[in-house]
Amino acid sequence: MSQVQVYYSNNPDNEGIALQIGPGASLNDLLLAWQPLCDESAYGKKYASNLDQSCRGCTHNCCDTAYVIPDLIAFKKLAGHLRCTFKALLGNYFQPEKRDIGLLRMIPNPCVFLHNRLCSIYPIRSLICRFYLCSTLRGDTEQLIYYISSLGMTATHVFARQEGLLAEKPGTISSMDRLFLELFKKYSSDPLLQYFLDAEEYEEIPLYPFVKRARL
Ligand code: SF4
Ligand code: SF4
Repeated sequence: MSQVQVYYSNNPDNEGIALQIGPGASLNDLLLAWQPLCDESAYGKKYASNLDQSCRGCTHNCCDTAYVIPDLIAFKKLAGHLRCTFKALLGNYFQPEKRDIGLLRMIPNPCVFLHNRLCSIYPIRSLICRFYLCSTLRGDTEQLIYYISSLGMTATHVFARQEGLLAEKPGTISSMDRLFLELFKKYSSDPLLQYFLDAEEYEEIPLYPFVKRARL
């Protein structure tokens, strides 16, 4: 039996998609359990344009406007997949004006990796893309995936800074940019950040420390 079970909580005070997580679960177990939700019709998706409530072929595609900063594991996998250096990856697929202010945002509107309404890097897309669903999530589930995604993105930010890949010049900062910059400041001293800095695969990241800390 999988270490992570996904179910729907009907509690009227705390309704939504919920998780049951075993003590030996890894982040990869969570991703494997989460993936079928993209095609799951039973829980409902607010913005799905398909009668079958599937993300596949959805024309209200959230990838059109998403603000995607990849987690560090996805960032490294992307460079490997495209067979390019981190510098070339940033130069070709990330917004230069955001990089100038210290943010690694993939080129949006629509996402640079959306081809013919499909994600061209689907198996290695980043955590923020894997977790996003326009379904109702239970509060603790939302808190956990937000925390994990935030730490993954912060790790990319810290890594990019260490590698000299961030410009961090003064420039125009939108409210969304500010939110991410503040988030990175907050999480760059988080004790669990090191898991993302050290790991090459999601299997290497144990889930339980994140579950405990997300509840704090
Ligand atoms: S999560 Fe995105 S792709 Fe999936 S149904 Fe909602 S808007 Fe469409
Ligand atoms: S990387 Fe893929 S899933 Fe993420 S926003 Fe771009 S096209 Fe969508």
